[in-house]
Amino acid sequence: MKLLTVVGARPQFIKAAAVSRVIRSDYPGIIDEVLVHTGQHFDHAMSEVFFTELDIPQPRYNLEIAGGPHGAMTGRMLEAIEQVLLQEGPDCLLVYGDTNSTLAGALAAAKLHVPVAHVEAGLRSFNMRMPEEINRILADRVSRLLFCPTRTAVANLYAEGLTQGVSNVGDVMFDASLHYRGMARERSSVLGRLGLLEQSYVLATCHRAENTDDPQRLQAIIQALAELAGEMPVVLPLHPRTRNTLAALGLNAALKAVTLVEPLPFLDMIRLEQTARCIVTDSGGVQKEAFFYQVPCVTMRDETEWPETVELGWNRLAGASRERIVDAVLQAQRPALSGSAPYGDGQASQLIAEGLLSSL
Ligand code: UDP
Repeated sequence: MKLLTVVGARPQFIKAAAVSRVIRSDYPGIIDEVLVHTGQHFDHAMSEVFFTELDIPQPRYNLEIAGGPHGAMTGRMLEAIEQVLLQEGPDCLLVYGDTNSTLAGALAAAKLHVPVAHVEAGLRSFNMRMPEEINRILADRVSRLLFCPTRTAVANLYAEGLTQGVSNVGDVMFDASLHYRGMARERSSVLGRLGLLEQSYVLATCHRAENTDDPQRLQAIIQALAELAGEMPVVLPLHPRTRNTLAALGLNAALKAVTLVEPLPFLDMIRLEQTARCIVTDSGGVQKEAFFYQVPCVTMRDETEWPETVELGWNRLAGASRERIVDAVLQAQRPALSGSAPYGDGQASQLIAEGLLSSL
């Protein structure tokens, strides 16, 4: 079977690494995967470093489409992916998550009657102002195979009347965390490089448009991180979008007590996650990784697509309120272990490969 996989953004490289590894090791000559990189994330630290470190095959196509407003970016991707589909004639198109690359891939394939498989189907924030929410709802609607990471995601699809082709396979990022956790401990020297002691620092990330594009929210977040940096080291790998906004708003000076670093390679990032005292983030993936590594998390959003992390006591929603963020971090504690495994048993990638073969 010929599978065309479309990726474009950092979290998709990590998810695709998990599935591609299984395809290459367990299905050689059975599933032929052609990788298309839209170019949505293009700089070395947000893209190439992941291909090298996570051993992802080089994309056969790099569409080099980045920047611009959402409509223009998605439109250009749609046009280019349609050409690739016509040229390659795949049996299936595989997309991950909720970016513009996900939507463009799904839509281009559906219009050509190429079956679409969506990994991370069924996630909902119920906030239609998020570009990601629009992308996921539309991608799910045109997908033939809906690989859900959780029971909640399955229930969300059922509530929308989507019941065909739905399966709960578990979370591919949990697979990735199992595969890379030991490697990060052995290979990463990031703690030493940044002069950090285990359990004594806060790791922060911030890049959601709802925070970076709203000066009031961004300012409150910056104040919270600056205040926390008075108590203990705070490390903030800066997403390019956040870096640009901070510079444009002249907010860099407010962060002088915070350790600002470039976006980190994956092993360094998860090494920092594993031994943080607390993680503060607006990222979907980082919330879950905090849970996987049993580190308390404070989420700088008003809702989450991963409610299990909150229900099990590992994650607190603090919105973009300076006071709530600071209090939640200073009070963060590990809850009692529950033994519950909402993200599957580490076999999601295997189940996806099997699902592709058996259903198409
Ligand atoms: N990540 C990374 N380096 C960084 C920040 C994040 O490798 O400097 C990883 C992180 O460990 C997680 C993924 O990127 O696996 C999350 O991606 P991101 O926060 O960009 O997107 P989201 O999950 O919110 O869609």
